Amino acid sequence: MLDAAIRDELKALLGPRGWAEASEDNPALRDIHGLGLPALLLARPESTDQVAALMRFCAQHQIAVVPQGGNTNLCRMALPTEARPTVLLSLARMNRVLEINPEAATLTAEAGCILEVAQEAALAAGFILSPDWGARGTASLGGAVATNGGGLNVVRYGTTREQVRGMEVVLADGTVWDGMRSLVKDNSGYDLKQMFIGSEGTLGVITRLIFRLHPAEPESRTMMAALADLSGLMDFFGQARQIGGTHLSAFELMPGIGVEKALARYPDLRRPLEASSDWYVLVRFSGREAVEDLLGELFEAGFEAGLLTDAVLASSEAQARNLWEIREQMIPHQYFPGQVMLKWDVSLPIDHMAGFLAQAEDTVRSLAPQGLCYAVGHVGDGNLHFSCFLPAGTGEDTQHAVYETVDALIWRLGGSIVAEHGVGALFRDRVARQKSPVEYAMLQRLKAAFDPEGRLNPGKLLHPPT
Ligand SMILES: Cc1cc2nc3c(=O)[nH]c(=O)nc-3n(C[C@H](O)[C@H](O)[C@H](O)COP(=O)(O)OP(=O)(O)OC[C@H]3O[C@@H](n4cnc5c(N)ncnc54)[C@H](O)[C@@H]3O)c2cc1C
Repeated sequence: MLDAAIRDELKALLGPRGWAEASEDNPALRDIHGLGLPALLLARPESTDQVAALMRFCAQHQIAVVPQGGNTNLCRMALPTEARPTVLLSLARMNRVLEINPEAATLTAEAGCILEVAQEAALAAGFILSPDWGARGTASLGGAVATNGGGLNVVRYGTTREQVRGMEVVLADGTVWDGMRSLVKDNSGYDLKQMFIGSEGTLGVITRLIFRLHPAEPESRTMMAALADLSGLMDFFGQARQIGGTHLSAFELMPGIGVEKALARYPDLRRPLEASSDWYVLVRFSGREAVEDLLGELFEAGFEAGLLTDAVLASSEAQARNLWEIREQMIPHQYFPGQVMLKWDVSLPIDHMAGFLAQAEDTVRSLAPQGLCYAVGHVGDGNLHFSCFLPAGTGEDTQHAVYETVDALIWRLGGSIVAEHGVGALFRDRVARQKSPVEYAMLQRLKAAFDPEGRLNPGKLLHPPT
């Protein structure tokens, strides 16, 4: 009864276009891992003022709020996962690019703006908005910032964190923080915007953003190469960095099994290389002047050093697109139906990448002899999306043992089990085991300072203090 009255008040506050039922059949309540718990309502505000009014209402009625952008996250982050009265807050209607300032080289947009829309607006003005990954057509800018997304351009421009100049945030009590200052330098106190970058909707609702832009690089060439052996990966990366310098704009590792599965599943993809290999890399050089010769130099250097068995330089836009399309189909969920998937978003000191893969495979085999390892990664950033597929019916004990042992290996190597996808509900318990008590307590104190009642995206990122 209380719920019905509250829902009616909420609907009136949001207006007829500002809400939808958060029932099971609403796609907003489902993500890559399945259905979330029910919410009172799916709120679809159209302005910062409406978000603020909604947050004040929720504070007054002790309602939890789960912000949602494109719901493309991979870690169970943007759905209700705790059984308590919750509003699912979609930013989808706050989706405009507001300004491109060519002198300051910045783009200002509402947080629900789709990443690809903002990228295209920047490009039309002669600039690159650097955050970029496969979900660009659905992910929002707010989600990109709230997850501190990484993706394909990090080796060149850094993570999303390094692209954010300013932001506006609605706090848990409905107060609006105006941090829309586009300053390169501002040491006038703690850099508050950094708190919200990567906060996964647990500290506030981001409503507007200012991004820095980079000059467009009209010249871009891509090469796909078959590695002679995985142990040569970092040597080849070293060559790419040495020869390409600042022109190196992507360096991606793809597993042979993934390439074969993508080619079999998507008939529109064309096989790029004659030779087959256990491992391939995709390298892109970009710049304002032609980069073809430089990439050719890398091609030769790779063969001379015996690091490559085959390689192709895309000679047209269509060929390059084909190569990148193959890369974007490396997400393994689609290829091993029915099997038990264990996953890591591994971040490692960059010189440990190839060694980690060999050790992780040995570890998995020793605990689960039929386990199949799968890795795809942004090598230039020390980031591997590592998965392990176990036969259907593999017991929880074995799964737990594999997780524990591989997590321990990553920590031993000075790495993190969460590189760019974030924590959400999926990694929360494992991350809690990774952090020292001192670090975890600092994170909990920070959360309590912004959200003392624990109403913002409960169940994600952190355990509440005990
Ligand atoms: C095919 C595919 C490829 C991907 N590739 C990469 C990759 O290469 N690199 C990478 O880093 N990630 C990648 N991702 C995952 C990536 O995290 C998400 O695509 C994106 O960053 C999330 O944006 P979103 O708008 O979908 O956010 P959502 O999924 O809706 O939300 C993500 C989190 O942000 C919070 N949030 C959303 N909007 C706001 C807001 N306005 N204010 C406060 N909190 C908010 C949510 O509460 C949630 O915790 C990929 C995903 C897919 C499906």
